[in-house]
Amino acid sequence: MSIAQDQVVAIHYTLRNDAGEVLDSSSEGEPLTYLHGHGNLIPGLERELAGHVTGDKLSVKIAPADAYGEYDAELVQRVPRRALKGIPNISVGMRLQAQTEHGPRAVTVTQLQGDLVTLDGNHPLAGQRLNFEVEVGEIRAATAEELAHGHVHGPGDHHHH
Ligand code: ZN
Repeated sequence: MSIAQDQVVAIHYTLRNDAGEVLDSSSEGEPLTYLHGHGNLIPGLERELAGHVTGDKLSVKIAPADAYGEYDAELVQRVPRRALKGIPNISVGMRLQAQTEHGPRAVTVTQLQGDLVTLDGNHPLAGQRLNFEVEVGEIRAATAEELAHGHVHGPGDHHHH
């Protein structure tokens, strides 16, 4: 069986940036299991995985546009600290939900300067090329329930309706 739409696929992966730093990795022993073709992985990685079979190892570079998007300077805003009152101990690197003109959005505090706090609404990996080492594990057909939900169910999965 090779990886195609509506299959449940287990992968082991290590993600590095262009500097070679490990950004993420499937946790020890536990593969990442996902439903192929439902937007659960970044588009570039799904495309590279399609057609592969269990045991395949691949090394892929994915451009920002096929990963977390290009960096958008318009998503950076500076606000006075008083706009964030109620949030104690604001520090660089903190992730917050901010109200923006486009609704609530996850932002990262990237700079503190005097009374001003810089909030960046880009995904932390926006603008970065991603380098994945992937090994394909088990592949199986999805259940009807998984297809209806658009994600994988299984041991250790989240519980929901
Ligand atoms: Zn579900």
